[in-house]
Amino acid sequence: MDALALQADKFGAPLTPTVIHRRSRRPDDVEIRVSYCGICHSDLHALHTSPHDGGAFPLVPGHEFVGKVTAVGEEVTEFHVGDSVAVGNIVDSCGTCRMCQAGQENFCENFPTLTYAGRDRVDGTPTLGAYATRYIAKEHFVYHVPPSLDPAAVAPLMCAGITVWEPLRSAGVGPGTRLGVVGLGGLGHLAVKLGRALGADVTVFTTSPNKIDDARELGADHVVISRDDEAMAAHRATLDVVIDTVSVEHDLAPYLHTLDLDGTLFSLGYLGPITVSTIDLLVGRKRLASAGSGGHRYTQDLLGFCGEHNVTADIEIVLPEDVEHAFERLRSNDVRYRFVLDLSTFGDDNAVLS
Ligand code: NAP
Ligand code: ZN
Repeated sequence: MDALALQADKFGAPLTPTVIHRRSRRPDDVEIRVSYCGICHSDLHALHTSPHDGGAFPLVPGHEFVGKVTAVGEEVTEFHVGDSVAVGNIVDSCGTCRMCQAGQENFCENFPTLTYAGRDRVDGTPTLGAYATRYIAKEHFVYHVPPSLDPAAVAPLMCAGITVWEPLRSAGVGPGTRLGVVGLGGLGHLAVKLGRALGADVTVFTTSPNKIDDARELGADHVVISRDDEAMAAHRATLDVVIDTVSVEHDLAPYLHTLDLDGTLFSLGYLGPITVSTIDLLVGRKRLASAGSGGHRYTQDLLGFCGEHNVTADIEIVLPEDVEHAFERLRSNDVRYRFVLDLSTFGDDNAVLS
C-alpha cells in the first residue's frame, strides 16, 4: 500500500511530501486513514540525531495520531471500517514475555516495535511514522477514540499523555497528592491537567514567566519560576511526586530538594546519562525514577479517564506545508501546548495513492 508522507530522506534534509510504501495488511491488522498527528519533541530529537548516533533515515516521524479505519484483517474483532481510532508510539511487541503479560508492552523484553524508526517484527522492514496519509497497525495497539472528545486534541494523549499517565498512576497520585510538574510543554501541560483531574494539588515549575497565567488556567494551584532561587527555596520539601518533562539535560538537584519524605522524581524529558548526588536522595529517602510510553491496559485506562473527565491537549493545528515552521517554533519553546498536523486532506489530489 502506498501513502503520502512527510519524509526526511537523509539526516539534515527537510520534511518533504514523499510517496512511501507500507507493508501489506495481515489478518490482525487495522488500516487507517490518518487525520491528525501530534508533533512530539521526540520527533525533533529524531530528526536531529545523526546516523552515527543511532538516527534512522529516511525518517517519517509521527507517533501520536488519530484517524478512521479503512479496512481490517479477517482476525480483527474490535474495529470496523469507519471507526475513529488512535495509535501511540508502539505498534507491536512479542506478546509473551513477562512485561507483555503484565500489560506493559512498552517494556517488552524482546523490544517493542516503535511506530517509527523501529523494525517490523515479521518482515524486518523499517517502520515509518504517521506524518502520512495512511498507517497499518496491529489491532492490539489500536484504540477507540472516546466519542465525546475532539479527535485532533486526543492525538497527543497517545504519546505525551500516556507518558505522564503511567508515572501518575504507578505513584498513586490522587486527591491530596502534592504533585510537581517541571516544564510546561506538550507532556507538562497534560501532566497538569491529568494531575488536577485526579485531585492532586499541582505546582508547576517553569522557566517561562509568560506561561504563569496559562499554568493556572490549565489547573495549577501554584506556579514557580524555576530560575528564581528564592522561590525554589520556598518550595523545599513540599511535594510527594515530581514529573520532570524538560527536553534538555539539566540539574535534577533543585527538584529533588522540592520532594518531601519518600517522595519520587520521575525524569521523563531528558533521556540520557545524568549525574545526581546520592546525598540528595539519602536525605528524605527519595526516589529517582523514569518511564516511557504505556502498555495496552493503561493506554485504555487513560482514554477512558480522559473521556470521563473531558481531558484533551491544548492544540494548535498545523498544515503539512507549515511543518518546518512548526519545528522551528517547537525548538524555540514557542508552542501552546501541542502542535497537531492536520493530514485529513493531505494527498487527496494525489493520483499515485489510489
Ligand atoms: P516540549 O513541548 O518542547 O516541552 C518541553 C518543555 O521543557 C518546554 O515547554 C519548557 O518548559 C522546558 N524547556 C525547554 N527548554 C528548556 C531549557 N533550555 N531549560 C529549561 N527548560 C526548558 O516537549 P515535549 O514534547 O513535552 O517533550 C518533552 C521531553 O520529553 C522531550 O525531550 C521528549 O523527547 C521527551 N519525551 C519522552 C518520552 C518518554 O517516553 N519518556 C515520551 C515523549 C517525549 P517551560 O517553558 O515551562 O520551562
Ligand atoms: Zn512522543
